[in-house]
Amino acid sequence: MIDTHCHIDDEIYVHDLQAVVERQRMAGVEAILVPGINIQSIESVMHVCKAFPQYLYPALGLHPEEVNNDWRDNLLQIREAINRIGCYPKALEGLIAIGEIGLDYYWSKEYSEEQKEAFLEQLRWAVELNLPVMVHSRNASEDTLQLIRKVSQEAELSGKTLRGVVHCFSGSREIADAYIQMGWYLGIGGVITFKNCKLDQTLCPSDGERKPIPLSQLLLETDAPYMTPVPYRGKPNESRFLQYVVHNLSMTYGISENEVIELTNRASRSLFGIK
Ligand SMILES: [Zn+2]
Repeated sequence: MIDTHCHIDDEIYVHDLQAVVERQRMAGVEAILVPGINIQSIESVMHVCKAFPQYLYPALGLHPEEVNNDWRDNLLQIREAINRIGCYPKALEGLIAIGEIGLDYYWSKEYSEEQKEAFLEQLRWAVELNLPVMVHSRNASEDTLQLIRKVSQEAELSGKTLRGVVHCFSGSREIADAYIQMGWYLGIGGVITFKNCKLDQTLCPSDGERKPIPLSQLLLETDAPYMTPVPYRGKPNESRFLQYVVHNLSMTYGISENEVIELTNRASRSLFGIK
């Protein structure tokens, strides 16, 4: 299992990091990707990833909820850090992605224009640096897709591509199809285990009216410490709890848990180039 989105730099893990990482390894977690959210993440993400090279893989970016009056200066600092740190696999301890970045109109649309500008700029970095992106999108699926399409078209004009994953995907089948057609990936986590969650029907409709979304374009992710799956809801999430997401996907698609792990591992390695 590869956890493609885990905030293991969160302060709830730091005091006990060695033991936390060991628990994940013992449970069969092969790699963990650690996204940044703001300028503080430059320190915290790089610090934990340095301690476990080529097991924890760093990403940096400015999260939409972190976009405020200082966003231009914050972006500048993140970009300087990216230039200094370098990109995986050329730099083995370098950045594996730009993320998490995107749009979030859930709490407020106060900074929606600034969010769009910051998102656009970071999408363009990804193209320039040939890194995939980890996208956060909440209550903003149309705008998110529109900006991704815009930068994808720009990229194609110069013979490049914009690649990425929509993290914590819980959108409609139409939005899912749009990303799949672009060759993008959907990040699937604890949400799929929640009661009343219709994500399984979006991915693999039991009425057979639509074809299933191919498992080869799904990535496993926890978004730890958040989004803890059933039966551990209320506790901080950990990568090893991905086994419950795997179990759910195996039931949804009617294939073995090993096949789910194999296909999602392959998808993660393909998008992020993990050796
Ligand atoms: Zn996150």
